[in-house]
Amino acid sequence: MKIGAALGFNLIDYPGRIAAVAFTPGCNYLCPHCHAAPLLANAKDIGDAGFFDYLDTVKDWVNGVVICGGEPTLQPDLVPFIEKVRAKGLSVKLDTNGSNPKVLERLLAGKLVDYVAMDVKGPKFLWPETAGVEGHCSAMDESLRLVARFPVYEFRTTVAPVVRGDGEISFLTVQEMAAAARHIIQATGTPAHKYYVQKFVPRKDGLLDKRLENFPETPPQLLQDIHKEVLKHLPNTQVRG
Ligand code: SF4
Repeated sequence: MKIGAALGFNLIDYPGRIAAVAFTPGCNYLCPHCHAAPLLANAKDIGDAGFFDYLDTVKDWVNGVVICGGEPTLQPDLVPFIEKVRAKGLSVKLDTNGSNPKVLERLLAGKLVDYVAMDVKGPKFLWPETAGVEGHCSAMDESLRLVARFPVYEFRTTVAPVVRGDGEISFLTVQEMAAAARHIIQATGTPAHKYYVQKFVPRKDGLLDKRLENFPETPPQLLQDIHKEVLKHLPNTQVRG
């Protein structure tokens, strides 16, 4: 499997675990606010062997592995890679953009992943703008339903600036985030989900859409207002960031 050489472990990416991070390069989305793609473009591929060599050096400290990217479900060797991680007695968390329900179904059926975090790119009517691609709506809806069947999971949305059809760029609004929350309920049939509303953090050294690089972080007041509104729909919503 392709794994970028940006190795490390931390207490943040996998709640409740100290986890080594496996960055997989390549993504089928082009989210304007993405900073993973430029990062991974410069990361050398160390493959499975390089990752497991690294894991050996930190095995006394970690009890989990986070597989993120990029989009890990695009990797053809994802399942055997996860099986190898699990054989070492480590828990696995997968971060996904939800574009690949077939792989999620396989992981669910095989009980191969302990925690799934799926991005919800704002309200459905803005997915082409927020994900930067057309035509993934039915896959994302199917993934919402599938992810909600994993024993532990979260949905999460970064409150990022959106490049709108008229060229204006502005943050996701309270009303748009309420629509995103309602859509999660509609797609899954329940409001009982862990949902995170996340802060957008600009980077001067490379976002997919350069026009976003000079935007500030998501204003705290906007995050608070969104939190208050989204809680009316998804009662287990928290602000992250
Ligand atoms: S932010 Fe978007 S483009 Fe970047 S890795 Fe995630 S899904 Fe892919």
